[in-house]
Amino acid sequence: ATPTAIMVGTGLAARHGILIKDANALELAHRIQRVVFDKTGTLTVGKPSLLHIIAVDGDERQLLQQVLAVEHGSLHPLARAVREHAAGQQVQAASAQDMHDLAGLGSVGTVDGLRIHVGNARWMRALNIPMAALQTAADAQAGHSLAWVGTTNPPRLLGLLVFGDALKPGVQQAIAHLHSLGIHSVLLTGDNASSAAQVANQTGISQVLAEQSPETKAEAITALKQDGRIVAMVGDGINDAPALAVADVSFAMSSGTDVAMHTADITLMRADPALVADAIDLSRRTYRKIK
Ligand code: ADP
Ligand code: MG
Repeated sequence: ATPTAIMVGTGLAARHGILIKDANALELAHRIQRVVFDKTGTLTVGKPSLLHIIAVDGDERQLLQQVLAVEHGSLHPLARAVREHAAGQQVQAASAQDMHDLAGLGSVGTVDGLRIHVGNARWMRALNIPMAALQTAADAQAGHSLAWVGTTNPPRLLGLLVFGDALKPGVQQAIAHLHSLGIHSVLLTGDNASSAAQVANQTGISQVLAEQSPETKAEAITALKQDGRIVAMVGDGINDAPALAVADVSFAMSSGTDVAMHTADITLMRADPALVADAIDLSRRTYRKIK
């Protein structure tokens, strides 16, 4: 494309809320063959609400106080949902020490001498915390995001939290638009398989990779790039940064964290997945014109 065509293309994109970093990003965008989406905050609203609390010992209020303490400083959307729910119930946090977040796994902190972990099943398995006591309850919540609660001294399950998060409006059409451009769609998420499958069913996304860590997300992108395919990744969170860095073209939602935005080739000023197909469409028209 001529410098003028590139200027016109990036200018037009900017007016649609699509900020393209440079000419190289625009050039690559018109050759994208696969688009990979993060789920939470990218395809879903990212404002989950806490629907149910299940305590192994039946004391749901104490479990909420413990979880609240551990999640106190976490920026994860599920942590926000816990705080919001607790505020509504006027539940106060227990006192906790040494709290921190592990991206793509959960949060940990010490409450009353117990090391308490709040996170996904993959993490519980890694910590040898048995989930059998609540497995039936978890299976009954198919389609929802879950956070397991367990302690490691000694390994013991404490409970389970169930969250609901709505899809953004127009996601189905956004995916259909991509497919009409001949592009393959993939869902790549740290969430559980049944919640991921539910989103894929509702949106028409072709391929699903669930229970991913930030590292395996990056590995999945590398695998999708094999045979020279041009792969784009769309994400919003800290846990997406490694995958965004590996992708040929990275899209970050402006609602996302700074980490995601700094690594991105294309920044979407509205957290609307429909802008991805719009950007590709626009880049194709820019390059088609001057051939
Ligand atoms: P996504 O890839 O969909 O953006 P994440 O990797 O952020 O999802 O989280 C995946 C899963 O890890 C969540 O569904 C939850 O089970 C667990 N998790 C991660 N961070 C937290 C946290 N701070 N509190 C509770 N659970 C968490
Ligand atoms: Mg996310």
